[in-house]
Amino acid sequence: MASSNDKQPYRGFEQGPIRPPSEARSLLVRITRNCHWNRCSFCPVYKGQHFSIRPTEHVVQDLNTIAAHVEKLAMLSAGSGMLLEEDVKNAYAALDSENTVSFRAALSWFLSGMESVFLQDADCLVLKPSRLIVILNHLQTLFPTIKRITCYSRSDTINRILLEDLVKLRLAGLNRIHIGMESGSDIILSQVCKGVSKDAHIRAGRTVKEAGIELSEYYMPGLGGKDNYRENAIETADAMRRINPHFIRLRTLAIPSRAPLAEELRAGRFNKCPDALVVEEILLFLHSLGPVTSYLASDHVLNLFPELEGELPRDKERMIGLLDGFLAMNREKRFLYQLGRRLGIFTRISDMDNPARMAEVREAAALRGATPDNIDEITDAIIQRFI
Ligand code: SF4
Repeated sequence: MASSNDKQPYRGFEQGPIRPPSEARSLLVRITRNCHWNRCSFCPVYKGQHFSIRPTEHVVQDLNTIAAHVEKLAMLSAGSGMLLEEDVKNAYAALDSENTVSFRAALSWFLSGMESVFLQDADCLVLKPSRLIVILNHLQTLFPTIKRITCYSRSDTINRILLEDLVKLRLAGLNRIHIGMESGSDIILSQVCKGVSKDAHIRAGRTVKEAGIELSEYYMPGLGGKDNYRENAIETADAMRRINPHFIRLRTLAIPSRAPLAEELRAGRFNKCPDALVVEEILLFLHSLGPVTSYLASDHVLNLFPELEGELPRDKERMIGLLDGFLAMNREKRFLYQLGRRLGIFTRISDMDNPARMAEVREAAALRGATPDNIDEITDAIIQRFI
């Protein structure tokens, strides 16, 4: 499983390719490279890339580099109390080329308030807890402003960690873990090669909570396709109900051409749900959730409704009303919303009340030849551009 080559030379400051949408303001700290599982059929992110653990001293070196940039930025802003663009440009121009990426990372974090950190890549809990604690301690020492440190992990990895070690990680500052549950259905989990069962997801989720760490679980509507959309809704709702995570995050299925699932789709072995069926699935999910007290977040660009957010159970009826409202639209109106949302012209259903935006969407529909009959193909093509 996890392996590291501590003799590898330092390749300079590194950051991995992805982070959760909620970590947009976080400093990204690369502890491992790529994904040690790397078999999920819907996921193209690390395919063809080898997994490795970065030597601890390399991560420490990255952090020291960021600290040096932050110190410089603090000095530049000390006089006027603000960072002047010209000072930043001059500081950037004076850098060696190997320091520009780290400077940009430090600048963006500095401007965001330096309160949160995301540890990369796909599952840094494969590290020995003692090793991760060294990094967490170094982070806290260098940057006392930090309030939140988070990472992605896999349920099977968490199930191999002792509860007392998770508690130690929490005490060292790791206070939120993002898990890609994707589905609570054993049938679907097996079909997409997730390598984790529903039961393993439930055990891992409960353990994270027991350790006092905030838990963010991702649900992927659409992952069961047309054949299993009801199964996906009902089984995922059941798993979420039994975990009751702090956050449930929606991340609707999209199939990039680089993902193995794209081949299943081309071969006709996977029947992708059109948007309306995904909405029905989410509706069934909400109806099946039971009394969870999670915050439901829809912060991924692939989701059709960014406003499908709120505290459960308090906001559940509003969210159900939103989805029912979409399904009750006539075909023409529904198709205009789908297109407008995918083009970024609408960010919520009420944007359809804005005549200028509606005119823009109608114009885009005419330009693209989009109609209620071909809207799912058109929006799939649009989505391919940002996945
Ligand atoms: S575990 Fe996560 S990163 Fe790894 S292949 Fe699966 S979805 Fe992708």
